[in-house]
Amino acid sequence: MFHSTRLKLTAWYLLIIMAISVSFSAFIYFGATREYDRFLRIEQYRILHPTPPGGATQRPFGEFDPFPPSSQADVELIDWARLRVLEALFGINVIILFLSALSGYFLAGRTLRPIKNMLDEQNRFITDASHELNTPLTSLKTSIEVNLRDTNFNTGKAKEVLESNLEDVNNLQFLSAELIKLTQYQDQNNNLQFEKFHLADVIQEAVEKVKSQAKKKNISISLDTPKVYLTGEKRSLTELFIILLDNAIKYSPNKTAVTVAVKKIDSKVQIFVKDNGIGIEKKDIPYIFDRFYRADKSRTKQKTKGYGLGLSIAKRIVILHNGNITVESKAGTGSVFVVTLPKA
Ligand code: ADP
Repeated sequence: MFHSTRLKLTAWYLLIIMAISVSFSAFIYFGATREYDRFLRIEQYRILHPTPPGGATQRPFGEFDPFPPSSQADVELIDWARLRVLEALFGINVIILFLSALSGYFLAGRTLRPIKNMLDEQNRFITDASHELNTPLTSLKTSIEVNLRDTNFNTGKAKEVLESNLEDVNNLQFLSAELIKLTQYQDQNNNLQFEKFHLADVIQEAVEKVKSQAKKKNISISLDTPKVYLTGEKRSLTELFIILLDNAIKYSPNKTAVTVAVKKIDSKVQIFVKDNGIGIEKKDIPYIFDRFYRADKSRTKQKTKGYGLGLSIAKRIVILHNGNITVESKAGTGSVFVVTLPKA
């Protein structure tokens, strides 16, 4: 598909370049031929009306004769010159055709490469999303089918099954909401409503959202946020800190501490979200911002809820704010996520 489109685009490039080149050559050839024809007509006139001997001296004084009488040899020379021009223009066009075919093919590849990458990425996204959606859907379908076949199905059991089905539906809803968020932030032209605000307000708002979760695990959240103004979209930045705090709580044992600290560096501000949780193994660190990636699946997938989309959403939000997100972590010790954003 990519190859045939590339060839088609090359053919179009070639057609345009050759149309210009041939028109230009025709213009040169007909321009030159017209001059030759004019010269030949004058020549013929001179042969038919020869100047009397000594005629040149009969011209009024100072009059210059630009077309002295010429021989048949000159006429042949002009025909030969005309042929040479035609040959030269033909040669040039063959060279242009060859060079433009090569460069056209190369340029077509360069033009189509980003489109191909985008399509590949989109296909990967659709495959990943369908795969993730398929898992809870299959579980839901199996549960319904098995219970429909059960002849001893009673009201008490029905309640149990419905509760389990509801959990699957909730998971599906959560996953589809995450996928929508990711596609929204994936768009480079996402119309974020930028405004100037106090960073501490956004962090505080995120803390409020995860407070009940932290309370359930008896995890304390402490803040060290000096007065810093940022320009950005409050809603998405709040979302970013909710993701980081939610993970910090999710991947930490009970009765531990999570801290959020802010540091000003020149024109930038760094936000550190630190936990004393399970940490991330070195081999997983390069991939944790990838879509659907969950470190050590056997360790986390069964125990904690999630689809591996949070950090990829977080990364997209940071990129849309011209910032950067990194992590420092050691398995068993804890993690520090560092978000760097430009100041207001
Ligand atoms: P999710 O939490 O839904 O699995 P994320 O994209 O938020 O997805 O995180 C990707 C993976 O990175 C997680 O599955 C987990 O293994 C790891 N991770 C993220 N944050 C932390 C953290 N604070 N401590 C330990 N591991 C983390």
